[in-house]
Amino acid sequence: MSISQLARSIATSPTLYLNEQARLLRERGEAVIHLGIGEPKNKTPIHALLSAAAKLNTGDIKYSPTDGIPSLKKAIIRYTEENYDKIVAPENVIVSSGAKQSLFNVFYTLLDPNDEVIVLAPYWVSYPEMIRMVRGIPVIVTPEDGRFEPRMADIERAVTSSTRALILNSPNNPSGAVFSDDFLSEIVDFCERKNIYLIMDDIYHRLVFGKRWTPAYKFSNKDVETTKIIVINGIAKAYGMTGFRIGWCIANRKMVEVMTNVQSQITSCTALVSQAAAEGALNGLQSVIDSLRLTIQNNRDVILQELGAFTGVKCIKPDGTFYCLPDFRAYNTDSVALSRFLLQKALVVTVPGKEFGMEGHLRLSYAGTVKDVTEGVERIRWALDPDSPNEIYVGDKKLLRDWL
Ligand code: PMP
Repeated sequence: MSISQLARSIATSPTLYLNEQARLLRERGEAVIHLGIGEPKNKTPIHALLSAAAKLNTGDIKYSPTDGIPSLKKAIIRYTEENYDKIVAPENVIVSSGAKQSLFNVFYTLLDPNDEVIVLAPYWVSYPEMIRMVRGIPVIVTPEDGRFEPRMADIERAVTSSTRALILNSPNNPSGAVFSDDFLSEIVDFCERKNIYLIMDDIYHRLVFGKRWTPAYKFSNKDVETTKIIVINGIAKAYGMTGFRIGWCIANRKMVEVMTNVQSQITSCTALVSQAAAEGALNGLQSVIDSLRLTIQNNRDVILQELGAFTGVKCIKPDGTFYCLPDFRAYNTDSVALSRFLLQKALVVTVPGKEFGMEGHLRLSYAGTVKDVTEGVERIRWALDPDSPNEIYVGDKKLLRDWL
């Protein structure tokens, strides 16, 4: 079979792979706990459902404009004004099939072959793969050991004449870190001076606990046409509407025009019913976000407390998202082997830090129930920590630890 070298080189999404492993184990009746999940457990907000249902009831579900229906773009413009304190025009907004497609559009539009994009570790797994898919080169900058915020000097050193963009995700998947205002302001200033696009993946910006999230725009005195800042956002995480597949990008008019051409040749437009749902969510009661955030913040506190009982594990407190990225190097420096071991022995799904450019760590999600979070970490501790009791109940089975 003839498959292109590039396509062959693209890795499977490790999280989707782990979902499948967990599903297979569950099918065999095993009591798997999934600490790898990447979506909140809430039900779709009622205003989103009503809006989608009203659209369906018209029976008139056809193609929409490639860049999104005007009423959704209007809701996004209002959202941007409220959350970013920035007024943008409809020509600055393009709606896509999830923030994922928005990101792909941006990379496709900005990069020529071998152009470089700076990616800060720990990074979301899809960035390097997407950059490679458009024949660009991801250049990874890693922070000092024990930190999640990179040094500005390391970023400056990574820039070459081929650097076109830098992608920044705050709050960060997988670490939960919210970058400081000082760092953001330096990076905005640096990118504008060097003519490097700064792609802000803000998909988790409503899920921040007790800390203020600041939009990058605040540190630029340029307008949306001249700034190097590109904003990516969507409804997936804040409203727990991952299955609707709606994201958007805010950029200068020229970029949006080109991205619209690109998207018109790939997906034509995003599904109309999903756009109606997104419009309902954005225009509906925003307290749904607050209740989701409070639930997740409570889970964050629970997971930190559970991890605190672990002698060898170090965990930097996450200020946002529903992930944390504890350091397990005291038990195993090979995160892939560790993650497999935990799935086999303790039936807990975790994601190896290696996938995010942070070996020796595991990404644990606390988007599930308090019970899952508590029991999941308890099982991990049982599997690794000789100070923990050597018997544990997994479902109705009593397991005996005989490897420490
Ligand atoms: N960016 C980051 C950092 C993410 O974690 C995700 C989803 N896991 C996305 C973008 C994609 O979001 P969407 O579901 O809207 O495509």
